[in-house]
Amino acid sequence: MGMKKVDRCSFCGREKKDVQLLIAGMEGHICENCIEQAHSIVEEEFKKNVGFDLHGVELKKPREIKAFLDQYVIGQDDAKKILSVAVYNHYKRLNQKVSEDGTEIEKSNIILVGPTGTGKTLLAKTIAKMLHVPFTIVDATVLTEAGYVGEDIESLLTRLLQAADYNVEAAERGIVFIDEIDKIARKGDNPSITRDVSGEGVQQGLLKLLEGSVVNVPPQGGRKHPEQKMIPVDTKNILFVCGGAFEGIERKIGLRLNTKVVGYKAVAENGKIDREHLLQYVSPQDLRAFGLIPEIVGRLPVLTYLVPLDRESLRKILTEPKNSIIRQYHKLFEMDGIQLEFKEETLDLIVDKAIEFKLGARGLRSICETIMIDAMFDMPSDGNKNMVITPEFALEKIERISTLRLQAS
Ligand code: ADP
Repeated sequence: MGMKKVDRCSFCGREKKDVQLLIAGMEGHICENCIEQAHSIVEEEFKKNVGFDLHGVELKKPREIKAFLDQYVIGQDDAKKILSVAVYNHYKRLNQKVSEDGTEIEKSNIILVGPTGTGKTLLAKTIAKMLHVPFTIVDATVLTEAGYVGEDIESLLTRLLQAADYNVEAAERGIVFIDEIDKIARKGDNPSITRDVSGEGVQQGLLKLLEGSVVNVPPQGGRKHPEQKMIPVDTKNILFVCGGAFEGIERKIGLRLNTKVVGYKAVAENGKIDREHLLQYVSPQDLRAFGLIPEIVGRLPVLTYLVPLDRESLRKILTEPKNSIIRQYHKLFEMDGIQLEFKEETLDLIVDKAIEFKLGARGLRSICETIMIDAMFDMPSDGNKNMVITPEFALEKIERISTLRLQAS
C-alpha cells in the first residue's frame, strides 16, 4: 500500500492529472479516452450482432443496386434490373412521409420464375445483405392451412423474427424469401403437380401476409398452441420475394402467345417469338394458368424470370463472385498458411462435370468439396505450404467418388 494514492484510469493507467475526466466506479476509474473507445467497441459489436440499420436505410439507386448484385450474382441481367427497381421503390415507400396529395406507393412483392440453381435465392439473399435487413428463407411446401399437419403459415414470420433476434421493428422491415411457391399451385389446373399441400388454402393464408396485416406470430414457431404467447407482427413493410421453377409453364406461355399472335400482333418487339426461351415472356396470366389464385398473383406485381446457366456463366460463378467458391478455398487454406492454386484446366473440368451430372450451379460446390476433402483433411498436419490442384488430381478424386456411388447403388 502506497502512502499517497494517485487516482488513475483502471483501463489505460493514465493519472488523473493527465486526463480531463476520471469517473470513479466501485473498484476503479475510467477516463474519457477509454469511455470513448469502449463506446465504439460496443457499437461495433452491436452492428455485428444485430446489424440492422432501422432508420434511414441508405437508399441506393437502381443502378447502384444492380452493381451490388453484379458482385455476387453472375448473369441474370433482366432479373437484376427488375429487382433493383422493385427494391428501390420498396424502400422509397418505407421512407415516404404521409403524403399530402394522398398518393401512396403500393408494396411491390416480387416473384422470380426460373429453374432451380439459377440464383433466385442468391438474389434475394444478396439484397438483404445490401440493405442490412433481417432475411429468412422459407419453403412453401412446409406450410399448411391451420388445422392440417405441418407448419402454420404464421410460422414463416417466426423465422424472420429469429433472424432479427426478436427485434420486431427490424423484422417488420425485413425480407422473406418463399421458395417453391409453385408447389402450392392449385392441383386442378395443373396435372403435373402430384402433391397438393392443400394448395388453395395455403395460398389464401399467404395472401393475408402478402397484403400486409398484423399477424400473431408464435415466437417458437411450429403449431400454435393456446399457452404460447403470440408476438404481433405487421407485415405491411415486409418485402416478400417468391421463387419457383414452375416446371412446364413454358407450355402455358406458348399457348397464350399462340392465341394472341393470331388475334393481335406478336408480343416480341421484332414481331418474332423466341420459341427456345419462352420464359422471358412470362406474364401474370401464365401464373394463374399454372394454378396460383388471382389474388396471390395480384399481390406479386413484380414478375421476372431467370435463365438456365450456360457453361460460361458456370465458369464465372466459380471464381468471379465476391465470395466465390474458389475464393473461399483460398481463404480456408490461407488460414493455415498454405498457398493454394487451381489450374485453369481444373476449373474447366469442374464446370464440365457440373454439366455432365446435370447439377448446374448447385453442383459446382459439391464437386469442389469432393476434390478438396482429402487435401483439407491432410494439409493442415503435413506441413506442406503449397498445394496445386491439377486436373489429374481433381479427376482422380471425382472418379473415386463416382465409383463409390455406383457401388452403393
Ligand atoms: P435457386 O434459388 O434458383 O434454386 P440458388 O440461388 O439457391 O438457386 O443457387 C444455388 C447455388 O448456386 C448457390 O450456392 C449460388 O451461390 C449458386 N448460384 C446459382 N446461380 C448463380 C448465379 N447466377 N451467380 C452466382 N452464383 C449462383
